[in-house]
Amino acid sequence: MARYTGPVCRLCRAEQKKLMLKGDRCKSDKCPVNRKRPAPGKDPKARAGKRSDYGVQLREKQKLKRIYGMQEKQFSLFFERALRMPGITGENLFVLLERRLDNVVYRLRFAASRSQARQIVLHGHVTVNGKRVNVPSSLVKPEDEIAIGETSRNLLVVKDSLKEFGKSGVMPWLSLDPDAMKGKFLASPRRSDITDLADVKEQMVVELYSK
Ligand code: SF4
Repeated sequence: MARYTGPVCRLCRAEQKKLMLKGDRCKSDKCPVNRKRPAPGKDPKARAGKRSDYGVQLREKQKLKRIYGMQEKQFSLFFERALRMPGITGENLFVLLERRLDNVVYRLRFAASRSQARQIVLHGHVTVNGKRVNVPSSLVKPEDEIAIGETSRNLLVVKDSLKEFGKSGVMPWLSLDPDAMKGKFLASPRRSDITDLADVKEQMVVELYSK
């Protein structure tokens, strides 16, 4: 299935949740979710309260998939990998998603959104342990150093993002040196560390794929 290229705010409206897909606009009053715009569709109110268990599980999966900007095939491969890992599958899934290079670039404040981070990686502006990596889905490991490449240090999107968001710090499993435009993935996060996605019910995703 092709990557969704329509208006991304529509995806948030469908979930009635801020998925933070548009960088600084998401924190402003212009955000349609802040303005309580209804879900897209002819009669969104008619759908409210009528969801089956399957419908609820499906929405939870779509939400998680959209937050990390993934397509169905790749998301289900991540799930299969999480299933094979020891421990709780839902938590494993979160750990794998957080280890994606595009997500780490976003979390390190080098980009204002995950989709922008994806572009920065795709265009070869990111290095991992000194080597250029242009695969957004590649997984980083504890102690990996992620940096903006030498020749890309003047990129305005990175500078602006660091200026705008760098001051609010990074998640506890990362460290950032904003002046050197580099950071470290210190350790895989625990589920409880991912506080900004605390309301995502990953168990529903596990139930959906277990059918
Ligand atoms: Fe979602 Fe951001 Fe658009 Fe708000 S501004 S609806 S959070 S993408």
